[in-house]
Amino acid sequence: MYNPIKRKRTREVKIGKIGVGGNNPIRVQSMTTTKTEDVESTVNQIIQLYEAGCEIVRIAVPSRNHVQYVKDIVRRINGLVPIVADIHFDYKIAIMVADVGVNKIRINPGNIGGFQKVREVISACKANNIPIRIGVNSGSLERDLIDKYNGVTADALVESALRWLDFFDKEGYLNVVVSVKSAIVPQMIEAYRKLSEKTDVPLHLGVTEAGTPKSGIIKSAIGIGSLLYDGIGDTFRVSLTADPLEEVRVAWEILKALGIRSRGVDIIACPTCGRTKIDLISLAEKVEKVLENEKIPIKVAVMGCEVNGPGEASMADVGIAAGKGQGVIFRKGIPIKRLKEEELLNGLLEEIEKIKEEMGYK
Ligand code: SF4
Repeated sequence: MYNPIKRKRTREVKIGKIGVGGNNPIRVQSMTTTKTEDVESTVNQIIQLYEAGCEIVRIAVPSRNHVQYVKDIVRRINGLVPIVADIHFDYKIAIMVADVGVNKIRINPGNIGGFQKVREVISACKANNIPIRIGVNSGSLERDLIDKYNGVTADALVESALRWLDFFDKEGYLNVVVSVKSAIVPQMIEAYRKLSEKTDVPLHLGVTEAGTPKSGIIKSAIGIGSLLYDGIGDTFRVSLTADPLEEVRVAWEILKALGIRSRGVDIIACPTCGRTKIDLISLAEKVEKVLENEKIPIKVAVMGCEVNGPGEASMADVGIAAGKGQGVIFRKGIPIKRLKEEELLNGLLEEIEKIKEEMGYK
């Protein structure tokens, strides 16, 4: 995997059994969209997220009454994946939920009601030895900072984060992760770059309210991807107005695109051009669909012509180069068998099975 990124070193924080920061891989997070009181659906969604590659799952705790449901969820998940409780406004929820087995708490100290209340949340987390994410957000920045900076700016977000980090430091609580999310991509990039120069606390990245997949994937890929390429960020969530499984899928695509981590098959497909003589778009879609749950970390190419295809995709472990009514299966750019158009997909899958055997996946 080509990866020239020099990652900025941060200190390690443990979220359940998962390490974040330090030498740990960059972690993928997502958040459930089910009603927390619907324990059955929430547990099912958490398991689905875990199976899709989500390494830390956040759940909303909207009221004190919800703490009992979180307790049930944590018990049923039984350490499969770390659970983070997301709390807004009411510090008592944070104190109560710290006691029911969650692995981290996420608060925005700016909207929790002042230093004394945050101090009490710290005590509860200290007693349970669980980390806190200080989640600074462009949508809920403290009033004094908005006034000082004449609006929400990257510097204002950074100052808020540093102020809280300093407070946590003085309270003797270093078990923290911090985020400075903004809905504006350049602002979010600037804020994280500046914050990264000032602290070695692990950073959780995200573009907040990124929107539906159509625009949200692009915003997240640019915002999160730029920072990861700078070596900044220890964990992240792609926020989308969509099924959270899509967030996890996109998160892995970002990691794969940057050569940071691999998971499953990486599909390479040519854009097609005037040389293409088959319906390559639907063939590429079929290949993607049939391989979507495949765990083997290989590159698979789907190319529109035999002349340029194998060469252009020589970095692929295996691929199809289609011609007129027929095509070739190639490995590392070398054609190995010629098949009729309708046999290409099965021919590719057979070759992938052989690769799995060779790599010891079977
Ligand atoms: Fe065109 Fe062939 Fe390149 Fe695909 S691989 S874009 S069909 S030249």
